[in-house]
Amino acid sequence: MTDAQTAATRIAQLRSDLDQHNYRYHVLDEPSIPDAEYDRLFHELKALEAEHPELVTPDSPTQRVGSLALSAFGEVKHEVPMLSLGNAFAEDDLRDFDRRVREGLADELPAGDLFGGGASVEYSCEPKLDGLAVSLLYRDGQLVRGATRGDGSTGEDISVNVRTVRNIPLKLQGTGWPAVLEVRGEVFMSRAGFERLNASQLEQGGKTFANPRNAAAGSLRQLDSSITAKRPLEFCCYGIGQVQGELPDTHVGILNALKAWGMPISRELKLAKGADECLDYYRDIGERRDALPYEIDGVVFKVNNLAWQRELGFRAREPRWAIAHKFPASEELTELLAVEFQVGRTGAVTPVARLRPVKVAGVMVANATLHNMDEVARLGVMVGDTVIIRRAGDVIPQVVQVVLDRRPADAKPVEVPQNCPVCGSHVERTQLIKRSKGRETVSEGAVYRCVGRLACGAQLKQAIIHFVSRRAMDIEGLGDKSVEQLVDEGLIHSPADLYKLTFEQIVELEGFAELSSKNLLAAIENSRKPELARFIFALGIPDVGEETAKVLARSLASLQRIKQALPEVLTYLPDVGLEVAYEIHEFFSDSHNQTVIDQLEQVLDIQGQGELGAEYAASTTLAGLIDKLHIASVGPTGAKTLAAKFDESLEKLLAADWLDLRQTLSEKPANAVRDFFAVAENRDRALKIEAQLRDFGMHWQSEKRVVEGLPLAGQTWVLTGSLEIMSRDIAKEKLESLGAKVAGSVSAKTTCVVAGPGAGSKLAKANELGVKVLDEAEFLKALEGFGIGVA
Ligand code: NAD
Repeated sequence: MTDAQTAATRIAQLRSDLDQHNYRYHVLDEPSIPDAEYDRLFHELKALEAEHPELVTPDSPTQRVGSLALSAFGEVKHEVPMLSLGNAFAEDDLRDFDRRVREGLADELPAGDLFGGGASVEYSCEPKLDGLAVSLLYRDGQLVRGATRGDGSTGEDISVNVRTVRNIPLKLQGTGWPAVLEVRGEVFMSRAGFERLNASQLEQGGKTFANPRNAAAGSLRQLDSSITAKRPLEFCCYGIGQVQGELPDTHVGILNALKAWGMPISRELKLAKGADECLDYYRDIGERRDALPYEIDGVVFKVNNLAWQRELGFRAREPRWAIAHKFPASEELTELLAVEFQVGRTGAVTPVARLRPVKVAGVMVANATLHNMDEVARLGVMVGDTVIIRRAGDVIPQVVQVVLDRRPADAKPVEVPQNCPVCGSHVERTQLIKRSKGRETVSEGAVYRCVGRLACGAQLKQAIIHFVSRRAMDIEGLGDKSVEQLVDEGLIHSPADLYKLTFEQIVELEGFAELSSKNLLAAIENSRKPELARFIFALGIPDVGEETAKVLARSLASLQRIKQALPEVLTYLPDVGLEVAYEIHEFFSDSHNQTVIDQLEQVLDIQGQGELGAEYAASTTLAGLIDKLHIASVGPTGAKTLAAKFDESLEKLLAADWLDLRQTLSEKPANAVRDFFAVAENRDRALKIEAQLRDFGMHWQSEKRVVEGLPLAGQTWVLTGSLEIMSRDIAKEKLESLGAKVAGSVSAKTTCVVAGPGAGSKLAKANELGVKVLDEAEFLKALEGFGIGVA
């Protein structure tokens, strides 16, 4: 093949590829390659055509703008064509542009002297917003039409849609505007708007956008304008098209006039004299690029004098008087070499993309986040794929898209490891519990987590920082830095190792002296007798805060029971849903955690363990159990009816035949109960829950007795005003442990009201009804009478 033939073949290939990419980008708003890659192909074509001018045809992408308009919209003919812009990538390209401008204006510019190249040209400087070009036509100051650029001569009629863009004036302000005025500018989406839109799209299971440009284009070119109206679009004006009337004679003059008529223009608009000042502007905006609230892909320089613009005129697809000086691309192509899994401080196991290193927006990128497995599935990414990487602002580089055309035959799916890469504990998928009509259903969440909270090196620092914190074990004097040092130097491998630390080891730590070391040792020693609730909170079980820890301690009242409790048994506790119940159960089921808890039990003397809480014991009814089994068509009322019918005995319920069930329930739930218990697994689960409840020392039959045996059984107390020595929560807890019910309002049935300072209407009501009232001191005294101390 001759050189010309090879060039012709390559040119044909490039044209067909670029046409395809143009169509995807301009018409579908779904490019499959990053702009940088498109620009490379475009420049390859331009260079080949320059070498072989005989091969240039009018339909080449180098001679045309954009792509044909989408026929679903009406057509708009542009009176003045909407063109593209030439590009400068390097400083030299910009200097060449300036030289060409000066050559083109040789007759207008004063001649240079012996030392200089002549007078410099004045340029307007604006950021190049990355959105899509829009034309807005105003007649007598009223917005009458909006259009896209399309192929430059014919665009799409998007009049309805542009009216929904908040900062596009429907009517021009002031006076003096031309009778016919076509304003041109960019519709774009701010970074914040883009993030918000994608987040809400994700939430609603909709399509997310790879970047703000695609989001803006996809939002504006909607056939349903109510969708456009919901999208955070903005407009920025940068020029004009057809005009009937008077306008200033410079570009900047026109933009300022437009601004006075209510048109948004760029705050960054400036004037520069000559190439050097243009380059200063380019560098200044470049430095601030990441801090701007919107994305830009370069800056645009335009000859400011309109008469000179007319003199310079146009080439095929771009004006000779303007140029876009591009910044390094924020999206690039590279290969996904592997996906590794990282364990975060909270145990979340997240996929990280290992990439063939590539320069993105001026920085080498070798890793990118993949967020979670839902994201991996959404992207449909496989190891070996060619992917688009995006790095915008300070955001961590992201994989935004897969180039499916380039998927190799041996691409491999991304798989989550079964065991934690750091500690070997099981990796669990988090459970999501959905509640609807009182039913709870478990589904799989997007996050995977290493369950070895206490034993995992990746989580250890975080676990210990939490363990020693004030509301947990309250070991004063051990700051985050010291914990990190202790772990880094291998002095502690688990929270239990804290109790083995010696004076010599501590005094060696940064920031410790003799006295502080002694104090720390004393603080550690002082923490050896924690209350059960504190201890549970200190373990750092996911989703178990102080309140839940207190509830666990108060209700189950022994570490042993908490460790063993089945998820369903845990859901009897106030405010413990299935989600948390599963977390607790999984935490204690993990053997790595068990080992650490065993070690802790050996060095600690955990307080506050004993009998089951009265309130909890009373809450475990057979009806509750039936309800927790989530049998289809059987709600809380059906569960109560069944429990009563079968004498509060699960055994009798399991032995019931369909006729027995039918006597109590209507046909549908009766069938559901029969079918449910016909499954061995369901029977076993129900029996297991019952056995555990029995083992914990309670059973529905004995519920009354447990409370009846307590000194305040049958009484109703009300707490009001602020208590100063004992918090309201603790007071409530103490009263309940004595068998009293603590109510929120005073009635004739109230036994006693405890009123602290600031008590208002409840105290008044108590007085009115003649209910007994105690102040805090009297209340504490009364508690003491039952053997309950204040601490
Ligand atoms: P362009 O985007 O490089 O430049 C022209 C456009 O710049 C104008 O139409 C206008 O919308 C915009 N602009 C922003 N600020 C401006 C300002 N202050 N003054 C004037 N114009 C301003 O050129 P183009 O012809 O619209 O498209 C080419 C671009 O699109 C390239 O960046 C290319 O990479 C990208 N593209 C990408 C793909 C792909 O597949 N990824 C396909 C086609 C095009």
